[in-house]
Amino acid sequence: MNVMQTFSLNGQRALVTGGTRGIGFALAKALAQAGASVVITGRDTARLNAAVSALREEDSSSVEGYVLDVTDTGSIAGAVSAIGPVDILVNNAGTEQVCASLEVDEQLWDTIVGTNLKGAFFCAQAVAKNMVSAGTGGAIINLCSLTSCVGVPGAAAYGSSKSGLVGLTHALSAEWASHGIRVNGIGPGYFETDLTGVFYQDTAWCASMQAKIPLGRFGELEDLAGAVVFLASPAARYITGQVLYIDGGYLAAI
Ligand code: NDP
Repeated sequence: MNVMQTFSLNGQRALVTGGTRGIGFALAKALAQAGASVVITGRDTARLNAAVSALREEDSSSVEGYVLDVTDTGSIAGAVSAIGPVDILVNNAGTEQVCASLEVDEQLWDTIVGTNLKGAFFCAQAVAKNMVSAGTGGAIINLCSLTSCVGVPGAAAYGSSKSGLVGLTHALSAEWASHGIRVNGIGPGYFETDLTGVFYQDTAWCASMQAKIPLGRFGELEDLAGAVVFLASPAARYITGQVLYIDGGYLAAI
C-alpha cells in the first residue's frame, strides 16, 4: 500500500468526547477531513447541535452529536450504547480551574480528576468493550498535557489527572494490545481556548511564556490535526503506549 493511503480514515468511525469547541472540535474536523465519520459529544444540547452543524458545513462526511457527561458513568453507558461501535476514541473532554493547593477542596478535586481521568477511563472501557466483542481493534487517543510531566503551581488536581492519563495510556496499551487496540496520547502545549483564554489576556504572561517556546509562538488548533489523524490511522499501526507532545519545543528546552 502506498504510504499516503495509510493515513486515510476512510470507512472508520471516530468518537470525540468534548468535541463541541476548542481542541476537541478541531480534532473532530481533522478526523472528518481524513475520511472518518465523526461523532462528537458534549453536555450542552444547544452547543452540541451548533458544533454538529458547523462540522457538517466544513465537511460533507457524516457527523453526529450525542449528549454525554463524562463524570457520569450512567451517561457514558447510555451514550455509548446509542452511538454503537466506533473504531477511534479521542478522550478529549477536560476541565481545569487554577487553584492554590492549600485552597483545593474535595469538590474541586473530584470535578477535575473525575472529568479528566476517571471520565477518560470509563469512556475507554465502554468503547473498548464494543471493540473487543467485534474483534475489530481500534485506536484510543488521550488528551494529556505539559502538566503530565512538568509541575505547574495552582494545577495540582489538573496535573495529577493529566499525569494519571499517561499512566492510563501505558496500562491500557499493554492490556489491550492483544485485542488490536492501540492507546496513545497527545500532549498539547499552549493553545488558546475557552479553557485557557484567561491566561492570554495577560500580556506579561504571554510574553514570558512565548519566550520559552523554541518555535516562538503559541499553538494554533490546526497544529494538532496531523497528529490525531496519524495516531488514529494505520500509518501508526505499530505505535502504542506513546504520548506525542505538540508544544513548539517547550518541553525539550526547559
Ligand atoms: P475547552 O474548555 O475549550 O473544551 C472542553 C470540552 O470538554 C468542551 O467541548 C466541553 O463540552 C467538554 N467537557 C468538559 N467537561 C465535560 C464533561 N464533564 N462531560 C463531557 N464533556 C465535557 O478546552 P480545550 O479545548 O482547551 O481542552 C480540550 C482538552 O485538551 C482537555 O482535555 C484539556 O485538558 C486538554 N489540553 C488543553 C490545552 C490547551 O492549551 N487548551 C493544553 C493541554 C491539554 P461542553 O462544555 O459543551 O459540555
